[in-house]
This record gives sequence, C-alpha cells and structure tokens, in this order.
Amino acid sequence: MTQHTSAHPASQEAIELDAIIIGAGFSGMYQLMSLRDKLGMKVKVLEAGAGVGGTWYWNRYPGARCDSESHSYMFYFSKEMVNEWEWSERYPQQPEILRYLNHVADRFALRSDILLNTRMHAASYDAGRNRWHVRTEQGQHFIAQFLITAVGCLSSANVPQIPGLGDFKGKWYHTGQWPHEGVDFTGKRVGVVGTGSTGIQTIPVVAAQASHLTVFQRTANYSIPARNAPLTETFKRYAKEHSEGIRHIMNTNTNGHPFRMVDRSVTATHPAEREAIMEAAWIKGGLEFRAAFKDTLLDQEANDIVADFVRKKIRQIVKNPAVADLLSDIDHPFAAKRPPVDSNYFETYNRDNVSLVNLRATPIECITADGIKTKDAEYPLDIIIFATGFDAMTGSLLKMDIEGRDGLKLKTSWQAGPRNYLGLQVPGFPNMFTITGPGSPSVLCNLPPAIEQHVNWITDCIRTLRERGLERIEATEQASDEWCAEVNRAANATLLAKVKHSWYLGANVPGKPQVFMPYAGGFGHYTAICNQVAQDNYKGFSLTR
Ligand code: NAP
Repeated sequence: MTQHTSAHPASQEAIELDAIIIGAGFSGMYQLMSLRDKLGMKVKVLEAGAGVGGTWYWNRYPGARCDSESHSYMFYFSKEMVNEWEWSERYPQQPEILRYLNHVADRFALRSDILLNTRMHAASYDAGRNRWHVRTEQGQHFIAQFLITAVGCLSSANVPQIPGLGDFKGKWYHTGQWPHEGVDFTGKRVGVVGTGSTGIQTIPVVAAQASHLTVFQRTANYSIPARNAPLTETFKRYAKEHSEGIRHIMNTNTNGHPFRMVDRSVTATHPAEREAIMEAAWIKGGLEFRAAFKDTLLDQEANDIVADFVRKKIRQIVKNPAVADLLSDIDHPFAAKRPPVDSNYFETYNRDNVSLVNLRATPIECITADGIKTKDAEYPLDIIIFATGFDAMTGSLLKMDIEGRDGLKLKTSWQAGPRNYLGLQVPGFPNMFTITGPGSPSVLCNLPPAIEQHVNWITDCIRTLRERGLERIEATEQASDEWCAEVNRAANATLLAKVKHSWYLGANVPGKPQVFMPYAGGFGHYTAICNQVAQDNYKGFSLTR
C-alpha cells in the first residue's frame, strides 16, 4: 500500500487555501474530491494518522469487520468505481475496507492534498477577513474560507478511568487504538472489558487464540448472527447490475441500508406467523433482522416480543444455564442500543477457556499489577482489552480547540450538549461544516450514504454561494433551537431515548451532558428536509457577502 503524500510545508508561514478538511476517512476524502475536482477549489486535508482510512485506519482489533453489508458499505457517487471494486465477503473485514479506502485515494489522486501525521489542534475564525485560521500540532498555520470537519463519529477512544491501570504489569489495549503490528494472544490470559459491537466481534477471535479469556460484562447485549460468508459470483453480479436500485433504496429508507423496513406490525401479526418471520430473519442474519417489522423500535409491546425471541435464542445457544442467564438478562429494549451483529459470539461461551464475569453484581474495584480485581475476586491477566467504546459524536470535535465568531468556543457553545442546525452547522461558527455531526442521522445510518448526502449538500451549498457571489453562511440561532427540538422529538417518538446508559446519549462518558445526539427521524426523511432547506434559499441559514 503506497502512502505518497505531500510533505509538510517547510516554512511556518501561513498557507492560504479555499477549504481545510479535518480527517481523511470516507468523509474527508470524498469532500476533498468534491471541492477540488467539481468546484476547482484549493483544498488540503489534515489527517492525524500515518495513512488514510479514518475509523478503519485505527480500528484494527482482531475480528474488526463492518456490520453493514459490503455492497452497501462503499461509495456510490462513481458508478465506475462501484463496477470495478469487488468485495470478497458479505461483511468486509477491516483490512479489506482499508484497501478500499486506499483505492479511493489512489483512484482520485487524493494523496497529494492529504497531509498525514498532521493533527489539527486549534482553529479560530477571523470575522474581519471571514477566514478560518487552522493550526496543527506540527506548527503549521493554514488560512481558509471554509473549515470542514470529517473526524468521524466514533473516533475518540473511551478508556475507563479505573484505578491502578498504571500498575498493571501486562499489556493493555483499547480496540480503537490497536497496534499495527498486531497482538499475539497465544498462551496468554486475556480479559476483555465491554460487550458492545466491538467486544462482541473481538471476543470469539481472541478466545480462539488465548489460553484463557475472561469477559467482563457490565450490560448484557442482544446480538444477531451475521451469517458472514464469501460472496457468490451471482451476488456480485447482481449487486453491480442493480446498483442504481440499491442506491435508491439506501438513500430513501430509514437507515441507509440496502433493504427496506417491512410494512407490518409485530403486534398485528399472528403469533405463529411472527415467530416464523423472526426465525427466517434470524437465519438470514444481519442488521436486516430489525427491519422485519416496522414497530419494533416504536412500541414497547412489539419490542418485548422481538426481545424475548432473541433472549430465547441466546438460551438455546449457550449450554451453561447460569451463563445463559447472565447473557440474556438484558435491561433495555431490542435495538434501542446499537444492535451488534456477530460471528459465533454466544457460541464462544461454550468453550472451556472462556468465562464470564457479571460486573453488575461484582463491579471492577481496581486494576492491580496482576490483573483485574472486582468486588469479590481477582482475575490474573497477561493482557487487558478495553472494548469500551468512544466519546461518540462530539468527542473528537471537542478535543480540538475551535473558536468561532466573537471568541465563542465550541466547548462553551456545547456545554449543555451539541446544538446545531441539521447536524451541519453550529451558530456562531460561520463557514464551518460538520460532516455527519450530532443532529444528523449519522450513527443511526449506514455511514457511506449518510456521508455522501452530507458531502453533496455541503458541496452544492458552497457552489451556490460562489455562484451568487456570497462569502459566508451561518446557521441561525432560531433554526438551531428548532432543529434541536426536532432531534429530541424524533428520539422521543422511539424507544431509543428510553435507554439511559447509551452512548447515543453520551451516558458512557463520565461528566458528558446527556443529550440524544443522532437524528432518529429517518435518513430519507432527513435528506428531504436538507434538500428543501437548500431549495428554500438555505432557510435557517444567514447568507452574506
Ligand atoms: P460501546 O457500544 O459503547 O460498548 C462499550 C462496552 O464497554 C459496553 O458493553 C459498556 O458497558 C462497556 N464499558 C464501558 N465502560 C466500562 C467500564 N468502565 N466498565 C465496564 N464496562 C464498560 O462501544 P463499541 O462496542 O466500541 O461500539 C461503539 C459503536 O461503534 C457501535 O455501537 C457501532 O455503532 C460502532 N461499531 C461498529 C462496528 C461495525 O460496524 N462492525 C463494530 C464495532 C463498533 P455498558 O453498556 O454498561 O456501558
């Protein structure tokens, strides 16, 4: 994999650009291509990593794989690229996605405008010149009219503050900052903390290698079998021949996946029939399971029925009844936290070298030199893996020192939680756009279509400004207040907002304001709103010369 990029500018003199993009994952690369190649703008991408790929550059943990099906986890803006790229499996593994993103970088000659190993630490808006000043940890200074954050929703690792971690004699890792050289678990006693999507993916793979694996579970989780398999030639051909239809479905449905939610209700379906439907969806596997009925996330009674079906499956798979009880004792509605998709997760607990610790009954007290100490036992470990998630959606944005108009810091503006318009712009921060920011469907959506929609909207917006001789766009306070109310309304219309310990609410990070962050009104609906806003002369934004 080649990593040709332009060298860091030698001088510390400010470099003038039209736009600066932060992050070279899916969103940053497509935004670069769009502004540079469609609008002819002078653009640079600042990327902290030593390679492109964003989330898929950092998340190299064993078992890392996308839960979206491969034919939907790609760009659709280039039909030629859809036709030339070939995925090998139903769900792509991290190395394959990273290869794909490197292919994108090469195919569109993006590397020359991506500065790797370059971390932005501060940006401030100069109202007099209507320019953003961006400074990097490496000492560079850029000046640009537009600042576009493409930092990903799940990129700021959340390592729990457990006393004693510094004393641990073994090695510890967070899954989102995995060493590039890999980790050898052979003959090792390994502990995994966390049973979200990441833990559920990594646990079976680590268990197959470690001498013993101890899983530390705080909240039991639902999971649906992925049924991963190599793609058949027939399917590969089908996906290419029907790419326009697949794209249309993804862009107009609720979650950006290549299937629609079936228009039938759990409670209105005869029990025998719904059991057969759930069984068939279980056999088919994947996130499509939650699309088998339209009311699973809307109606508690409907959800209880689906949740009980999954609990029953867990108890059927896991042979030890006490372990099965712990794994199926789930305290939240099905899919109200992001539902994981797995390959042999529950089956892994049937292995002799795997044990489960219930942190609800016996919380972790500290980490010692030798392992993890809970309230009633000490578990000797050689390696600890924290699959403990992320400071999601706002973490990466707030780590940077972003200062908008009149000295307003983003940290101050978002003290009580993220507040913005359409998830795209924050009032007080003119000409700054946040790709898949909080307040947009983002993490409730298959991300590549959500990213394409945002990048296309931002690009069209900047094109319109230029065509009309306008220089500046800023979300209004009123539109932002109204949008935040709509984000809350949409969440409260579902069971999503009922889970108080979800990262959707920021509850996984101590001290983080608890505000439901993604927009739950549906991707197709959201896209229609964004399009209407643009058509109405960017209603809710103030546009000036
Ligand atoms: P997560 O969903 O936030 O799960 C973190 C896990 O760590 C939870 O089980 C949590 O327990 C536990 N935990 C956190 N702090 C803890 C502590 N101090 N002590 C004990 N347990 C603790 O994080 P994730 O699994 O990395 O997934 C985050 C998101 O990334 C997913 O929801 C998904 O959107 C995305 N993701 C996608 C894929 C994919 O597509 N393949 C794969 C992985 C992740 P509690 O539930 O009790 O807080």
